[in-house]
Amino acid sequence: MSLDERRVLGLRIVIDRDQCVGFGDCVQQAPEGFKLDEETVAVFVAPEVVERERLLRACDACPVDAITVYDESGSQVVPKPT
Ligand code: SF4
Repeated sequence: MSLDERRVLGLRIVIDRDQCVGFGDCVQQAPEGFKLDEETVAVFVAPEVVERERLLRACDACPVDAITVYDESGSQVVPKPT
């Protein structure tokens, strides 16, 4: 399993690079925060410069839920738990 993790604005953001299918929805929403690498898989750029709401939207935009976000208390906020 290939996980990439960052702590940003009190959030813990995890990209599951095995899940990512490289459509780039997260990149479109927040190009400062994410990019596609040479394997067309999402990697972090500088997520700390993206406003929190847009960062969460970008993570939530992933069609295959490859990005998971936990808040300050460790609760999962993206994808929204059902
Ligand atoms: S939105 Fe999801 S599948 Fe698309 S590039 Fe980002 S992490 Fe990968």
